[in-house]
Amino acid sequence: MTSPPIRVLSVASEAVPWVKTGGLADVAGALPAALAPHGVAATTLIPGYRDVLARLGKRPRTAHKWADLFGGPARLLARDAMLVLDAPHLFDRPGRPYGDDAGHDWPDNWRRFAAFARAAADVAGGAAKGLRFDLLHAHDWQAGLAPAYLRFAPVAGSKPVPAVMTIHNMAFQGYFPAEVFPQLGLPRQAWAMDGVEYHGGVGLLKAGLESAQAITTVSPTYAREIRQPEFGMGLDGLIRARGPAVHGIVNGIDGTEWNPETDPAIAACYTAATLHDRAANRAALAAEFGLEPGDGPLFIVVSRLTWQKGMDVLLEALDHLVWLGGRLALLGSGDAALEAGLHAAAARHPGRIGVRIGYDEALSHRMQAGGDAILVPSRFEPCGLTQLYGLRYGCVPVVARTGGLADTVIDANVAALAIGAATGVQFDGVHPAALKAALDRTLALWRCPEDWQALQRAGMAQDFSWARSGAAYAALYRQLVA
Ligand code: ADP
Repeated sequence: MTSPPIRVLSVASEAVPWVKTGGLADVAGALPAALAPHGVAATTLIPGYRDVLARLGKRPRTAHKWADLFGGPARLLARDAMLVLDAPHLFDRPGRPYGDDAGHDWPDNWRRFAAFARAAADVAGGAAKGLRFDLLHAHDWQAGLAPAYLRFAPVAGSKPVPAVMTIHNMAFQGYFPAEVFPQLGLPRQAWAMDGVEYHGGVGLLKAGLESAQAITTVSPTYAREIRQPEFGMGLDGLIRARGPAVHGIVNGIDGTEWNPETDPAIAACYTAATLHDRAANRAALAAEFGLEPGDGPLFIVVSRLTWQKGMDVLLEALDHLVWLGGRLALLGSGDAALEAGLHAAAARHPGRIGVRIGYDEALSHRMQAGGDAILVPSRFEPCGLTQLYGLRYGCVPVVARTGGLADTVIDANVAALAIGAATGVQFDGVHPAALKAALDRTLALWRCPEDWQALQRAGMAQDFSWARSGAAYAALYRQLVA
């Protein structure tokens, strides 16, 4: 007899296709389907932002009501395997999930996401009639208090529900002043070193990391890196102390949405056996970015424009990239100074560097399909998705050797090339000289079409589907529930 599925409440502040600002949304959106084949029934809970509610469509079922959730009434809306927390006083506002359109965080983010986490703990604890869960899986600081509520203030009479806390990026920790603590609805004993207190304030991610039965992050290398001060950003001691409870599970990608064989967004579909068909995508991409024809590689970048992503270092290497005969198509948005620097580089190198500021999903597909190589010079990268899309699309990743980039790209060293295992180029240390040297190595490979195509084919043959990661999460849940 097969055992009944493990029922997991996955709690995330964003999930594809409903709301996305980064990789977290891809992961949260993909998890339920990835887990289903492994005996896990996952339901995702997200906040009812204005856009999400508008797109919910036909009247969803109300599964639970709160008369007063942190200052106003709230409802739990259910649609298929998705739950939405409709709390207008917290989430029904214009702008982005975490702030206004001018880029300022909402000042009441602590209240918004404490309420979200409280609701999640209530639902996981069985407060909503007809909804039962065996485990709560919290993602990032926005859901960080949920394991703390389960630990310090569970639903009265409920059986204990274990929690998993996943770190998608240690740089975002949800730190707030101590004054908010009395308003969180937690008992006094939660104000402790092994509770929510963090450097004299309240740490939302920290609370989750202390309270969850298991911690995961999105690659084995990042799981090791965050044990060190440089990557742990204040929480490295906690991560070291939790030792064997910390796991690294690489993200998968959605192989249906990201498939060059069937991608409706690209000019010409292709496979590893028909790589020559990429030429049409390459020409279309060059035209779209106003780049002149050339023999050198067409590099792409699809990224948030931030210090983490090494975009300042990229700027320093752009003259060298052009000097080598390369061209660059860049899509991204973020820091104003970096945007200005990129525009200046494009003005310096018309026809060689094309910059598009903004967020454009379809364009990102056309870039992966038409680019020869994707640059990812991140200072730290918990997992990274764009290099995985690059691998699948035959757009060779050139990456910093850190976090998930180190785990998913096989450097084209002599040994790896000899056995046909290499899939890209890795470099150590994110500074201009290292990136320039990586560009030199990339050009050497590019000049040998056989080597280059071997890189492309080996990359396209990698399996970064969710199958493996889904199995790893399911195995972890099973341990905790048993
Ligand atoms: P992070 O979550 O740190 O931003 P990831 O590489 O994990 O980095 O995920 C970024 C996701 O966002 C990828 O799916 C990538 O394709 C997408 N993305 C980033 N910037 C843009 C953009 N300007 N336009 C379209 N997609 C973007």
